[in-house]
Amino acid sequence: MCFWEPCTLVIIFDYLQTEIICVISVVIVNSWSIRRRSTAVQTTDMTRMTVKKIPALKDNFMYLVVCNETKNAAIVDPVEPDRVLQVAKESGVSLNKVLTTHHHWDHAGGNADLFKRYQADTSLGPLQIYGGNDERIDNLTNPVGQDDTLEIGNLKVRCISTPCHTTSHICYYIETPEDKVVFTGDTLFLAGCGRFFEGTPQQMYDALITKLSALPDDTKVYCGHEYALNNLRFGNTVEPDNVDTLQLLNIAKESDLEGRRAMVPSTIGQEKRTNVFMRVHEPSVQKFVGKSTPLETMQALRAAKDKF
Ligand SMILES: [Zn+2]
Repeated sequence: MCFWEPCTLVIIFDYLQTEIICVISVVIVNSWSIRRRSTAVQTTDMTRMTVKKIPALKDNFMYLVVCNETKNAAIVDPVEPDRVLQVAKESGVSLNKVLTTHHHWDHAGGNADLFKRYQADTSLGPLQIYGGNDERIDNLTNPVGQDDTLEIGNLKVRCISTPCHTTSHICYYIETPEDKVVFTGDTLFLAGCGRFFEGTPQQMYDALITKLSALPDDTKVYCGHEYALNNLRFGNTVEPDNVDTLQLLNIAKESDLEGRRAMVPSTIGQEKRTNVFMRVHEPSVQKFVGKSTPLETMQALRAAKDKF
């Protein structure tokens, strides 16, 4: 048989066509996934406030916090100003405050640009930028510290100073008669905590155990990154008998990226049951790292997680 018989050519052509279609499909699916990741906003409607979770960059979250009564809003860590202004506009709110958790670029990197846009367009009104007292935070207009308060419309925000990941890290807590929420940046993640870049195990202990664990158990926790799956895998390695952790891990494993994103917010109660960094008093956690005090356990756990 001659290799170039017409039917062979047809088969080769068909094969090439299939390959091309496959390649095109992969490109379309990939670009669709990337687009989907950067655009899906998840909204939590509460009695007096609304929180819109806006995915940004690779795995960051920005949060638009709205006072339902006045439609005044604040944005937590607006690293993508275009997206923030678009969501604020679509939501019909007046955005006039930035709450910066810490100076790292993937959180505070949009402050300067957003500030410039407000200066260029006076119809947007003045923009106040809150954050820990730190010259590394761009365009900081309102430096805050432990227990300082500010308002978003009728919502009262309390600042919680949590130095360790960075020296000036701030978490923001809002309590209404019906609901409580806390924005924890890179201090507390779902089932994890931030790296100790500029602080000590004692400082992370104070942040997680003394301060954040003291909030009501039903406080919703909005963290700075989507790290749920990896953190839960680590938690399950540390405490294989913790059924709450295993249950969450199974949900995370079975979910696609969007599904895992739906795992945030967590709650303070859930973190106390499953987050090993909030469980450094537990014998099961201390046993994993071979330590007998909560502080030594905090230090050894972080070291183990850094290598996980
Ligand atoms: Zn950070």
